[in-house]
Amino acid sequence: MTAPSLFGTVLRLHKSRVLTAALRGHGLRFASFVHQEGYIGGQWVPAASGKLFPVTNPANGEVVGSVADMGEEETQAAIDAAHTAFQTWHKTTAKERSGLLRQWYNLVEEHKEDLARLMVLESGKPLVEARGEISYGSAFLEWYSEEARRIYGEVVQSPVTSKEMVFIRRPIGVASMITPWNFPNAMITRKAGAALAAGCTCVVKPAEDTPFSALALAELAEKAGIPPGVVNVVTASRGNTPAVGNLMCSSPKVAGVFFTGSTGVGKLLYNQCAQGVKRIGLELGGNAPFIVFNSASVKDAVAGLMVAKFRNAGQTCISANRVLVQEGVHDQFLAALKEAVEQQTVVGDGMKDGVTVGPLINAAQLKRVEKIVQETVACGAQVVMGGSVHSAGECFFQPTILTGVTEDMRAFKEEIFGPVIPIKKFETEEEALKTANATQHGLASYFYSQDVSQVWRVARSLEAGMTGINEGLISAAEVAFGGIKESGIGREGSKHGIDDYTYIKYLCFGGIN
Ligand code: NAP
Repeated sequence: MTAPSLFGTVLRLHKSRVLTAALRGHGLRFASFVHQEGYIGGQWVPAASGKLFPVTNPANGEVVGSVADMGEEETQAAIDAAHTAFQTWHKTTAKERSGLLRQWYNLVEEHKEDLARLMVLESGKPLVEARGEISYGSAFLEWYSEEARRIYGEVVQSPVTSKEMVFIRRPIGVASMITPWNFPNAMITRKAGAALAAGCTCVVKPAEDTPFSALALAELAEKAGIPPGVVNVVTASRGNTPAVGNLMCSSPKVAGVFFTGSTGVGKLLYNQCAQGVKRIGLELGGNAPFIVFNSASVKDAVAGLMVAKFRNAGQTCISANRVLVQEGVHDQFLAALKEAVEQQTVVGDGMKDGVTVGPLINAAQLKRVEKIVQETVACGAQVVMGGSVHSAGECFFQPTILTGVTEDMRAFKEEIFGPVIPIKKFETEEEALKTANATQHGLASYFYSQDVSQVWRVARSLEAGMTGINEGLISAAEVAFGGIKESGIGREGSKHGIDDYTYIKYLCFGGIN
């Protein structure tokens, strides 16, 4: 698929004019990997319609740049390109794929600072966190460059002497990937690293709010020498997304769909995949309990909650969402938490030094968080601090603590996705577990206790894919990340992250004398 040359020229001029002005002012030294076209079959291509959609900085509403608004036609071209590339990519050796992933990792590391700054501009997260995400994201490329060479088969004991029976692992084919705005880099590398290691090719559709980070990754993949068509990026506005997503799920050329995002959209994609019986990986929303028992170190629990709550202004799927504190330490914990929030949170533009809490991603998300707080307070919760919109700008919310929250209040029932801590006091371990498990979500959970028996009992009983025990920061490339219940299917990261991108092929060797 090629763009008309005149049109292409206009776009390129437009690109350098629009992007450079916005990016220069923010200390981005190399704008070479900032693209506004999608990346299909190794080419940078505009939307067939010529349309662009704007990407704004949530800290100030400034337009960072504009990106191709692609639809079904371009998505089909990307799927075709990935399908063609798969025919040769799956025949490469694990060592070759490992080397290319390693090179991709090296380039991401080399451009870490610019990638982080670009991420701040489109996502609003504080620069120090954006740097952290680039390291976390690149770690998946490094990890899977190593795991690529450790995809093993099995020889089983045959029940008869005339046959030998072997299982080998084969790549599934083209993998569709739909990713969210809250981790614009790592949610792509966590999937693409595993897919490429296994021998799959991919089509990525990033969120409307954060396409630049995805396009930058594609540019670095190209520079790393990853062949055309192995990684493709289709950008689309929210209006075009449903049609793009539907094709990514239904195309006969697609073998599997891998999604990180809300539970609602995850269920829709699961349905769309049923018709073609696709492989599916779903990393969906959470509603993480954070339990502080009487035996806990209150100091450690406060430190853990600060990390588990305020990272990305509370907009992470593993954010602590329901805080349960045992009555013996409740008041002490609350006082220490209030002091920590007052001293450690600095709300503002993520590009400014010292800022620890950036804006929410957009005005709609801010309204949602505001409504959750208002409704929870109207039902009887008390505001200890914060509770409303912050004066730093249109998308900022005050770090907030609510007490007296109960299970039927909105702040406990829903994933808040904002810098709000709702707290409930409890009496017994049994009561805490009952409350913690009373949700259809089961992604992360956290608890603090120094009682060894209690640690085992609670760790086994919490209904969640992941549990932080005396720890608020649990993510790493080496671990199996994922949920149970309506929080998802499958695991990303660790050696298990490759499983969904391969299938077991049974080979039966007969006629053996
Ligand atoms: P979202 O609305 O589900 O969006 C995620 C992605 O899905 C975006 O690329 C979005 O594109 C796309 N999308 C939306 N509607 C679609 C449709 N009909 N068909 C195909 N694709 C569609 O979620 P979000 O608000 O961006 O992200 C927040 C959610 O993600 C939270 O619930 C959070 O817990 C979850 N999350 C989970 C994990 C995990 O690992 N479990 C990690 C991070 C986030 P547009 O941007 O164009 O709408």
